[in-house]
Amino acid sequence: MPQDRLTIGRDPAADILIPEPSVSRIHAEFVMISADEILFQDRQSSNGSYLIENNAPVRITQHRLRSDEKLRMGNVEVVVKDLIAVARKHLAERAAAAAQAAQHQKPLEHRSVRMIRCQCGSVKEDGTSCKYCGR
Ligand SMILES: [Zn+2]
Repeated sequence: MPQDRLTIGRDPAADILIPEPSVSRIHAEFVMISADEILFQDRQSSNGSYLIENNAPVRITQHRLRSDEKLRMGNVEVVVKDLIAVARKHLAERAAAAAQAAQHQKPLEHRSVRMIRCQCGSVKEDGTSCKYCGR
C-alpha cells in the first residue's frame, strides 16, 4: 500500500478513526491528488458514502472531491478541507515516526488520528476545539 493512502473507519487499524456505529470498520480510503483535492474511494461500506450537493446526498464510490465539498459517511458529515487538514497532519507525523523507527531500528507502530462527533453535528479531531461551534 502506498504511504500516502489513508484509510477512514471505526476500526483502530484505520488511519483516520471515526468511532461511530454508522461508519464501517474500514469505510473508505483516499489519496491527496493536490493541495485541495482528494481521490476518494468507498470500500464497500455498509451505509455508503455520499457527496452532499445542495443538501441532497449523491452516492459515490470513487470520486474526486474538492476541499469545499461536503462528504457523508454513514451518518457522519465532514467537510473535505477538514479531512485534508487531518490527513496532512497524520502524514507528517507518520513520516516523522517512520524516520524515528528507522533510526532506532524499531518497527513502525500504527497510530490513528481520532475524529469524534461534536455536539453541533460536525466531526473534529479529538482533543481540539470545534471550529464550527467552539466547543
Ligand atoms: Zn461543534
